[in-house]
Amino acid sequence: MDPDRIEAAAAGDGARQHRRLPEWLRRSLPAGNAHGSIRTLVDELRLHTVCQSARCPNQRECWSRGAATFMIAGDRCTRSCRFCSVQTAPPLPLDAGEPARVAEAAVRLGLRHVVITSVTRDDLEDGGAGHFQDVIRAVRDRLPDAVIEVLVPDFQDRPGSIAAVIAARPHVFNHNLETVRRLTPAIRSRASYDRSLSVLARAWKLGAPDLATKSGLMLGLGETEDEVLEAMRDLRSADVRILTLGQYLQPTPANLPVAEYIAPDRFADLRAAALDMGFRRVAAGPLVRSSYRAADAWPGGAPAKVESNLCTDPKIKD
Ligand code: SF4
Repeated sequence: MDPDRIEAAAAGDGARQHRRLPEWLRRSLPAGNAHGSIRTLVDELRLHTVCQSARCPNQRECWSRGAATFMIAGDRCTRSCRFCSVQTAPPLPLDAGEPARVAEAAVRLGLRHVVITSVTRDDLEDGGAGHFQDVIRAVRDRLPDAVIEVLVPDFQDRPGSIAAVIAARPHVFNHNLETVRRLTPAIRSRASYDRSLSVLARAWKLGAPDLATKSGLMLGLGETEDEVLEAMRDLRSADVRILTLGQYLQPTPANLPVAEYIAPDRFADLRAAALDMGFRRVAAGPLVRSSYRAADAWPGGAPAKVESNLCTDPKIKD
């Protein structure tokens, strides 16, 4: 969702949507135009970000802090998940120059934690895993001390594709479960709940103990609390270490409507339950996204005081 639609009064449909938003989803805009420099950089280097393509509500905040999530392998997805606003279209060939340009952007932004995701490329034999390898290696060449986090598609659970990504040694392997078992067929396109769990378990087996596995759920799609707890237990059974829980927001009128707005105190309760289940880091809150303040959730990088902030308040302080 365009941040301006959330954070500022608008006209027409936007105003109706804004009025329906609960208070905890309304925020003031960061002052200044610091986010504009990322937009310029992204345009100049012909890159895509999931911040823009998914209409993330945190774009203004994250970009003002100099953080963005690069989306590689084009901006055309071969799937059509009902929650997602990334366009579905026949994909273009991979851009062999993209790895170097992502690395250049990470250098110019001074990133210490680089998050890389992609569209789903079911048209490619390896699902784009080789391209992930190239991007990870290009970033590491330029920023050897940076933490590298990948947020990957399911690669149709091909062992070779997952192994290829792990071979490039990212620090964090993130694959989102997105929603509970019952709602998965209606919400995700050509994905399966068990396949995603298998991807995560496979990644952990291949990368442990140097790899952190991470996953996330969107809430507010009509799931019950018991179903959320079941999904969290399933993720722990797949050895997932880091969890994100956020509120689903309808990015465009063509996407699924919100079934429920989850109050911050329910996120706090779920975060406590997740920590009891053994997750090492949990970011839970209405505006949490899988890459929101990702550096704070890195096990080696976040002091305890930051961990305690990674939770329920969308107005997280540095
Ligand atoms: S939460 Fe992630 S996708 Fe959203 S603006 Fe921040 S970095 Fe981009």
